[in-house]
Amino acid sequence: MIRVENLTKRFGGVVAANNISFEVKKGEVLGIIGPNGSGKTTVVNLITGFIKPDSGKVFFAGKDITSKPPHEIANLGVVRTFQNVRPFYNLPAYKNLIIPLYSPRAKSFEEFKHGDRDHIALDLLEEVGFERDSPIPYKPASALPHGYIKRLELARALALKPEVLICDELFSGLSQAEIASLLPILEKLNENGLTLIMVEHRLKELFELADKVVVLEYGEKIAEGKPEEIVEDEKVKEAFLGA
Ligand code: ADP
Repeated sequence: MIRVENLTKRFGGVVAANNISFEVKKGEVLGIIGPNGSGKTTVVNLITGFIKPDSGKVFFAGKDITSKPPHEIANLGVVRTFQNVRPFYNLPAYKNLIIPLYSPRAKSFEEFKHGDRDHIALDLLEEVGFERDSPIPYKPASALPHGYIKRLELARALALKPEVLICDELFSGLSQAEIASLLPILEKLNENGLTLIMVEHRLKELFELADKVVVLEYGEKIAEGKPEEIVEDEKVKEAFLGA
């Protein structure tokens, strides 16, 4: 579904991504982990077109998308969430989804024939765990707890009808209980066919979800494998313990 080939990106003297290759098959969950500054967000930005590589290529469903701008990549179905979420705080939560629901891909929502974006927005919020018959979907985003802000960010991405969803630190700032309630939501999305790439610091929870994990350190891929292989990998242990 997504294949990156020999991606390299330098910022001045820093090699943020050094010759990175990996792939994610349809319906898989790929985790990307690594210490701070190891190049995770750079890889997300390269896949989604926010920055361009110095060399290397990105393919989506076999098609070279390396030179495409972010909005075109999103319109093809490769959608991301952002680490620093910026909802419209003054708008009711569900109204935050109205603008993404004007995107071309959103037309494929079943309910769209009725032209009722509010209804689709409320459905999407329910899908990510907003209680439908509670006041929560109608509250301004500014009144929502952080856990719901993250869910809102997830719903905003889902409003673009992704085939591949790239989550940049979706679990950051959440309690264990909040993550535990998000996991089944992500599992269900994945079971329904969504391919997931998750950049995460919360390894324990990520490993419950991921089929495969790519480990970065200083812009290089130092390991790749199933979660149970990664936890046993000596290079990975060193990278994380600084040993
Ligand atoms: P991670 O997401 O793993 O924390 P990043 O991809 O954000 O790592 O950063 C990788 C390296 O590239 C870091 O050394 C960072 O300082 C550098 N870097 C990232 N983005 C930029 C940029 N826009 N300009 C200069 N340096 C950058």
